Amino acid sequence: MEAIILLGGPGAGKGTLADFLKTQKGYLHISTGDMLRAAVKSGSEVGLEAKTCMEAGELVSDALILKIIKNRVAQEPAEAKFMFDGFPRTLEQAEGLHSLFAEIGGTISHVFNLDADRDILIRRLAARRTCRTCGAIYHVINMPPKVEGICDVDGGELYQRPDDSEETILNRLEVYAKQTAPLIGYYRAREIIHDLDAGGSADNTDQQALAIFV
Ligand code: ADP
Repeated sequence: MEAIILLGGPGAGKGTLADFLKTQKGYLHISTGDMLRAAVKSGSEVGLEAKTCMEAGELVSDALILKIIKNRVAQEPAEAKFMFDGFPRTLEQAEGLHSLFAEIGGTISHVFNLDADRDILIRRLAARRTCRTCGAIYHVINMPPKVEGICDVDGGELYQRPDDSEETILNRLEVYAKQTAPLIGYYRAREIIHDLDAGGSADNTDQQALAIFV
């Protein structure tokens, strides 16, 4: 079992890069954010537990996240190639993933660190629109859908995530700096991190990532 990790603040473009690498390299896209949003929508127990934290831009508990990751990984065959987007987000989660992979014989081959300035992240998040049904991501100016308010992929309604409101964005950036950014050092020490300049276009980030696989 092999995995790559997309690391970066909210709005850095993890989801957009994930869509590209899924098509180009055949990775399974595992987004804990998407999984949690689906759980909230379905009203499951996981969703009920996660909802309040998500709306406030706080992290959901490590125990809950590790549980959903373990279940998800267990559904795939040994040769699966995972791409984790938005996971791990704390040192505790990174250690949990490490233990899980030690148990099942998994390897983390690359960690992509998507780096962009804070003001770019804030502007991107405020302009982000998400498909209510498939989760596809748009930017009202830089990556608009063909028809305003409608998803190009499945015709679903585009909406602004409640946690993409201005106040919550600032909290999410703070949470990232405090709880997730330490993972950069954690993976740098393991010599599997690749820094990407994620402040430009989506295509620019995609090409930098692709070049690392060659
Ligand atoms: P973004 O990267 O744009 O902030 P995500 O879709 O990855 O958004 O996550 C949305 C929210 O879901 C987070 O703010 C957090 O509340 C929760 N979440 C997602 N992944 C995790 C995780 N690995 N650990 C804890 N909470 C998470």
